[in-house]
Amino acid sequence: MIQSSKDLQRRLVALTRDLILIPSDASHPEDITRCFEFIINHVESIDNITVKKYCHCDVPSLVALPKNVRKPKVLLCGHLDVITHSDVQRYRSHIADGRIYGPGSADMKGPLAILLEIFRNLHTQYENLPLGLVITSDEERGGESGIRFLFDEIGLRCDVAMIPDGGSLNEIIVEEKGILHLKIQCHGHSAHAARPWLGNNPLERLVDAASRLRNNFESLKQDEDHWYPTCVLTNIRTPNQSINRIPSEAEGTLDIRFPAPYNVNEMLNHVCKILGEGIDIHTLISAEPTRLSPDSLYLSVTEEITGKPANLGKEDGGSDARFVGRLNIPVIVSRPIVGELHSEREWIDISTMETFYCIYELYLKRKLLKREK
Ligand SMILES: [Zn+2]
Repeated sequence: MIQSSKDLQRRLVALTRDLILIPSDASHPEDITRCFEFIINHVESIDNITVKKYCHCDVPSLVALPKNVRKPKVLLCGHLDVITHSDVQRYRSHIADGRIYGPGSADMKGPLAILLEIFRNLHTQYENLPLGLVITSDEERGGESGIRFLFDEIGLRCDVAMIPDGGSLNEIIVEEKGILHLKIQCHGHSAHAARPWLGNNPLERLVDAASRLRNNFESLKQDEDHWYPTCVLTNIRTPNQSINRIPSEAEGTLDIRFPAPYNVNEMLNHVCKILGEGIDIHTLISAEPTRLSPDSLYLSVTEEITGKPANLGKEDGGSDARFVGRLNIPVIVSRPIVGELHSEREWIDISTMETFYCIYELYLKRKLLKREK
């Protein structure tokens, strides 16, 4: 059953747009459930596929495997959660300039549509293909109860994982930065702002500490490609509401990213030292930098289909790939051409969705079927 190229594009676009319509972000758990039902409807109708649902810390996920296969050769991994936009009306899409625009179109409802389509098509064409599919719903919140739970606690394994959630069409990710999300808190002594000598201002101390951090990380900059540690103050607040009062408490959040050979402990000590005494630090998320080892067959298939060299890239942001890569399982991270991720103008390029589908299809056939040309 060979699909025409137009037909395939139409299916991928329709499926992506249907997925975008469901506001499956963390603040809408009922829509996350609805999105899972939509996906299960697509997958369950395939002969010989067993769908297993999991739920850890209220985070649902699903694993679809051929009957009698516990460890697939290749596991396709996607997440259906998107970041939260304040207005639910934003969860819609439109097509312009050969792109689908809409929240989550690139991260990762467009790539998810490709995974669903390829999974269905290959399993319909070939019996007993050792190809699995896993869909989680907490990637944007760290992946602890999704991919980490499935691999670490359920014992999910595969020979190779494919996660189309980073890189680009000809850029295959080999390295991801580590992550530290910290909450920093400072306590002081409240007083009337006309008599500052009577108070001890935690907000000012926090601001000073944040600026020490900024200067220090500035000095860690090295090369042009930003492959050095970064630290961003992403929030700062105090419960104080009065303009003429010295607050008694202040807190902020920091988003720190760092490449190997830095590690979580080293980075945390570094930050503690610079923040100094009197500032409490709570780690919200921590992840070591990851080195991925993509399959060389995938690189050659990418070159063959696109007619261009496949480059090995580095990703500043972390993804679910880290939970798989750290088990020494090769992970392939690349995706169609996308842009303006996490913004209201997020987009995915339609023709490279098709090209990407063809790369996956050829790679999977060569990997899973004997002697496929
Ligand atoms: Zn993502």
